[in-house]
Amino acid sequence: MTIYTGPVFDMARQQFRVIADHLDIPLDERERLLFPKRAVTVACPIHRDDGSVAVFHGYRVQHHLTRGPTKGGTRFSADLRIGEVAALAIWMSWKCALTNLPYGGAKGGVAVDPPSLSRHELENLSRRYMQEMIPFVGPHTDVMAPDMGTNEQVMAWFMDTYSMHQGRTVMEIVTGKPVASGGTEGRREATGRGVGFLVERACQKIGLNPSGATAVVQGFGNVGSVAMQSLAERGMRIIGVADHTACYYDPRGLNVNALLKHAAAKGVLAGFSNEVAFHPRELLAQKCDVLVPAAIERVIDADLATRLQCRILAEGANGPTTPEADEVLDQRRREVFVIPDILCNAGGVVVSYFEWVQDLQQLFWDEAEVMHRLYQVLHKAFQQVMARAEHDGVGHRTAAMAIGVERVRSAKNVRGLFP
Ligand code: GLU
Repeated sequence: MTIYTGPVFDMARQQFRVIADHLDIPLDERERLLFPKRAVTVACPIHRDDGSVAVFHGYRVQHHLTRGPTKGGTRFSADLRIGEVAALAIWMSWKCALTNLPYGGAKGGVAVDPPSLSRHELENLSRRYMQEMIPFVGPHTDVMAPDMGTNEQVMAWFMDTYSMHQGRTVMEIVTGKPVASGGTEGRREATGRGVGFLVERACQKIGLNPSGATAVVQGFGNVGSVAMQSLAERGMRIIGVADHTACYYDPRGLNVNALLKHAAAKGVLAGFSNEVAFHPRELLAQKCDVLVPAAIERVIDADLATRLQCRILAEGANGPTTPEADEVLDQRRREVFVIPDILCNAGGVVVSYFEWVQDLQQLFWDEAEVMHRLYQVLHKAFQQVMARAEHDGVGHRTAAMAIGVERVRSAKNVRGLFP
């Protein structure tokens, strides 16, 4: 019996089973590795602008605290359930271990559709959520960050709420803050730039010249938009983009600057063009060199996996590929080079770690130093995944997760089981 249910948690569980089998982990050790250490649900009442009171449900799941504090984003999304939050926390654990950050994974969020709130209501809800979480988080216990539906401003409100409670400024309580309030240079761009860097490494690996290659990007939030920019800077032609409001496809290439300008002004892609509107699901199946799913979980199922025509699948989102699709992609290993999510989107949490370190030391780095260190970490993780995949004769996801799970497992085993 578990409180963690739903398709996203089932997916994290199924993926873990594959890795546990691959690593021959004894059955009685598996639940200790998979199930989250703690989960908190909170009711967040706020005053709405019309004077009424509304209650929103908030969650925080801390997967394991064996390698240090837990770390992970806070998601504001309408259908958020605890099973999804737990899955995302588990993936954060494998991600932090793969990049060797001294963290366990966590994730949290509120079941709310952010556009349905005014700015004032969003501030009320952000502050109330953090206030409810004060007993459970701390700079050495659990450190939050942005995720879908939250941003730098929300992190600034979180930091301020926690700090007011402590009676002093505690910058290191959250990452992904604005630079003006203890954030780091490069954090906002980190995930998307990391995607660009890793795609370039993958291109080298398969002998593809990035200049003139074609790319399709699904999702136009902080990850997708910066990833697109970063691929375009490498000379790639962006032939398709989509968000939850619109989808555009033009094999001659889309105007990247115009897309960015439109999204910055309107907040969404809708209204950019009528001429190149396209079917969102079919966009993913179009012929291109690089496909970047950077939106939500489970968008690539077995059917799409058989029809993908990309050479590199760069998973900017968390969990965009179902386990059934993974089986198909495993068969197509020579045709489609997968950069698995826990590697591909790790740039965000790596620079979050840098932000936390800078806040703790009150010694701030310039952007060049941040980026240099980020690429060093990603380069090393990429090499390790490649070497492991080759050595074990497995796909990149299995290799990446095997490294992550193994590191968490060995930390647990050397520390022992108390009492
Ligand atoms: N939400 C991001 C992720 O899924 C970043 C987490 C963080 O920076 O702690 O990786």
